Amino acid sequence: MRKQIAAANWKMNLTYAQGEQLVNDLLSQSSVPESNREVVLGVPFPYLSMVAQKIKGHHGYSVAAQNCSQHKAGAYTGETSAEMLTSIGVQYVILGHSERREYFSESNQLLADKLNIALSYGLTPIFCCGEPLSIREAETQNSFVETQLRESLFHLSAEELQKLVIAYEPIWAIGTGKTATADQAQDMHAHLRSVLAAQYGAEVANRISILYGGSVKGSNAAEIFSKPDVDGGLVGGASLKADEFIQVINGLK
Ligand code: PEP
Repeated sequence: MRKQIAAANWKMNLTYAQGEQLVNDLLSQSSVPESNREVVLGVPFPYLSMVAQKIKGHHGYSVAAQNCSQHKAGAYTGETSAEMLTSIGVQYVILGHSERREYFSESNQLLADKLNIALSYGLTPIFCCGEPLSIREAETQNSFVETQLRESLFHLSAEELQKLVIAYEPIWAIGTGKTATADQAQDMHAHLRSVLAAQYGAEVANRISILYGGSVKGSNAAEIFSKPDVDGGLVGGASLKADEFIQVINGLK
């Protein structure tokens, strides 16, 4: 079975003390994930080391950065490199979140560069894709998301591609309380898998975990995750409360 993942995206929320408390609560109250399940905590840069230390020895927990530079090193004030992340024990990096695409003008090409550097330092990218409301209303979401994959991923070898996790996050469902239905999620995930299969073959496509993101919470996680091509979720708001996020984790297949 593909790895089933509950990934938290704290975004720019919580103080250090609040973050510490949340991780303590998660680790003490959640059950140990089974071997095919993983909990990934996507936290702000200043908290990465703290979270990496806390989860040490806790099987099934990993830490993720929410971004990294496309550059290896050098005079890029304010940036954080992939190498810096691996040097403090970070395993994952979220790339291409719609907020970064929108507010920081991240293009498909820039994301291709970020993916390359992340992979070269052994980070597992969680590559986000997803359409805005206008595209969904025009019913052109399949080709829109296909282009995102093609322009950011298709230069990768099959071996590299298999190291990725993909997160489908329809923008109209992020932070809005409006969730895609489980069937809408399944339809898009099956489409994404077929796009990957056409390029890399079904065996490769079937190995890639595809997460759904967009107003996932404790009460809807299990239904969405029960769909055959949905391998867990990338969770914003509901990852900021331990009891809510634990329900999401418990909803994994
Ligand atoms: C996200 O930030 O990736 C996200 C899906 O947010 P929310 O769960 O709050 O919609």
